[in-house]
Amino acid sequence: MISVEQAITIVENNTPPTQSSELRALCESVGYILYSDTFAPINMPPFRQSAMDGYAINLHEGSNYNLIGEVKAGDNHQPTLNSGDAIRIFTGAPVPDTANAVIMQERVTVKEQVLSLESKVSFAENIRPLGEQVSKGQIALAKGSHLTPAAIAFLQSLGFTEIPVYKKPTIAIVVTGNELAEAGQPLAHGQIYESNASMLQTALNSLGYLNITTHKVADNYTETLNLLDQVISANDVVLVSGGISVGDYDFVGAALEELNVEQLFYKVKQKPGKPLFFGKKDEKIIFALPGNPAAALSCFYIYVRNALERLSGNLNFNLSKLNAQSTSNYIKKGDRGQFLKALYTNGKVEVLDGQSSSMLHTFALANALVYLPETADSIKINDVVTVILLPLN
Ligand code: AMP
Ligand code: MG
Repeated sequence: MISVEQAITIVENNTPPTQSSELRALCESVGYILYSDTFAPINMPPFRQSAMDGYAINLHEGSNYNLIGEVKAGDNHQPTLNSGDAIRIFTGAPVPDTANAVIMQERVTVKEQVLSLESKVSFAENIRPLGEQVSKGQIALAKGSHLTPAAIAFLQSLGFTEIPVYKKPTIAIVVTGNELAEAGQPLAHGQIYESNASMLQTALNSLGYLNITTHKVADNYTETLNLLDQVISANDVVLVSGGISVGDYDFVGAALEELNVEQLFYKVKQKPGKPLFFGKKDEKIIFALPGNPAAALSCFYIYVRNALERLSGNLNFNLSKLNAQSTSNYIKKGDRGQFLKALYTNGKVEVLDGQSSSMLHTFALANALVYLPETADSIKINDVVTVILLPLN
């Protein structure tokens, strides 16, 4: 059985960024990765800009200046300042070519059109030079940049309306199990309400993956085979829930084998989530997650998210890890690495009670996972442990 670290490496080595790009409207591209270098079509700022409300001056020896006009933000006239002249100016307004400094209004006194400086002024102060952020023709943002709100606004400020991004994968979620009933319907004895589909779907949606279909199949070999065949052909990524263990009615492994899905790993030395399967068919990525909900979600955050990010062009994806002091004791049984549902607050972390892989309740109270490597055998109060922060949406 491979270790957590080996499994992560195999996932990373088999999820190259897609070669497909799409042109997206800038305001709909948050969370995407820029597909190519983006060159500035204009200088930013596009003109010499006042950084202050105050006075633009044409510097001379004396400390008094003649006030000869005004330029406010949005104006496009250019008063000519001779040596010793000043104009009223406001933040964001174009500084005339003949002005060479802007003084904050708090640092001058003005009496009858004469401005007196109260302190020394340096050449070019409070003027944002033309192209200070980026010059026309330079790379504004490089291929691989994250399209954060700031990046989007920056490109918008350069006049872009759409940009090329790495396409995000289309994803099918397949839940397996005869026992699964739909919420809203009465629950017969022996049934449980299906919850992994909405868990995975909402986790995907909040990470910006919107092209998702969900499918349900009974514990039946032929039906599983046919559905998997169809969803693998139609999608970039398939996430299967359940049916990957060793029970007599777990048919996912055999169906994937018959479909010639190449197994990249099956079973990871971890708790929860030992029976995790990762495979590939041509360029298609297949994860079969354990059916136990808390195990499925742990595997999603540790492996699936990493794969999806890489496929979408984010080659530097890393889990948000930090160190924190434990406020709990925990005895680890066995030699597998463990992901423990935990609550992180202000540098401290509490390992929650109820770590069974079926316990969604505990996961619902958690905001982090504590990672205990294979070699660790316990956590004692005040020990420093590795914490993986989870998104709360
Ligand atoms: P399996 O991996 O199919 O053996 O399922 C392991 C456990 O997870 C069983 O208790 C299943 O009833 C439960 N389970 C499987 N799939 C789901 C699901 N979609 N929603 C909620 N629980 C599930
Ligand atoms: Mg099952």
